[in-house]
Amino acid sequence: MPASSPLPNPLIAAMSAYAPGEQPQGEGWVKLNTNENPYPPSAQVVQALQEAVGVKSANFRLYPSPDSAPVREAVSHLHGLPASQVVVGNGSDDILNLLIRAYAGPGRAVGMLDPSYSLYTVLAAAQGAPLVKVPLQADGSWSAEAIAQSGATVFFLTNPNAPLGFVFAASQVALLAERFAGLLVVDEAYADFAGVDCVALVKSHPNVVVTRTLSKAYALAGLRVGYALCPVGVAEILHRVRDSYNLDRLAQVAAVAALQDKTWLKVTVGKVCATRSLVGQRLQSLGWKVNPAAGNFIFAEPRSRTREPSLATAADAFEFLRARKILVRRFPHHPLTATGLRISVGTEAEMQAFLAAAEAWSQG
Ligand SMILES: *Cc1c(COP(=O)(O)O)cnc(C)c1O
Repeated sequence: MPASSPLPNPLIAAMSAYAPGEQPQGEGWVKLNTNENPYPPSAQVVQALQEAVGVKSANFRLYPSPDSAPVREAVSHLHGLPASQVVVGNGSDDILNLLIRAYAGPGRAVGMLDPSYSLYTVLAAAQGAPLVKVPLQADGSWSAEAIAQSGATVFFLTNPNAPLGFVFAASQVALLAERFAGLLVVDEAYADFAGVDCVALVKSHPNVVVTRTLSKAYALAGLRVGYALCPVGVAEILHRVRDSYNLDRLAQVAAVAALQDKTWLKVTVGKVCATRSLVGQRLQSLGWKVNPAAGNFIFAEPRSRTREPSLATAADAFEFLRARKILVRRFPHHPLTATGLRISVGTEAEMQAFLAAAEAWSQG
């Protein structure tokens, strides 16, 4: 028997895990830190799940559809793209991982706007893919030329951007796709809240993939479903590296019901967007600097009578809120995010509680 455990793959030894937002235990939290939907999923989802665990529970002994065929059909119907161009993942994080495993690796760089979603860096590190970061400017602009020259094999454009909230027009993304030689992945986790998407580009451009999740707009973060809309030929590549049964039966049942209930999506997204604009206005009237917000979150820089914007000011506001059981998110590691807070849009009542605390802090 060896004296110690064997060493891991050096790539894995050198990397760190993704740091997800805190999931607090216990009751009474106003949880505005991981962009979950404050409203429940569609009643049709609940009904379909009840049927699946009730009269149909004998099916649990059987493996699920390996390629989530019923979900691919529902996605195909929703976006008007053949089911053969749809890949379903265990959350869109699974899809992002498949894209990197299939298209990036040693000598095949992953690119991203900086700041954007930090999971891309973790997934790239695990595959030994170099990482190139193209700066996002404070005004929400970026250089298509810099991306075209980045040398990336796969470039992730988070649209709307997280955590800053900017949205980029499909025409701007199309121009980028025409200049960039690699695979352009438009991560549309928040597109339902933006009223802007790049799905049409998947049909017109052979190098554009759009990824979506049911975690945000469809309120199914706990069941883990996401999907990719792929140009012809790309889906077949992603299926090669996918887990054979990457979505369980319940997740597939829930996803189909959720995707079919367009009314519930419209109602809940409408409420979130209305609350988003009210909260943005209130924060501005408190003197906070508020970014344009296209997702289900607001990025804002806390300011008070006595405090200039800084990392310490943001930390102070964060702790003030946390002491009142209101949890938001800080991103202290980038100059464009270090002085701000990302606040998920909750219910009206949750946002009233948040605004009351924000006002108390601002006057302190
Ligand atoms: C939330 C989020 C995802 C991941 O969604 P899951 O489907 O829950 O894995 C992907 N990209 C961005 C930018 C996100 O904010």
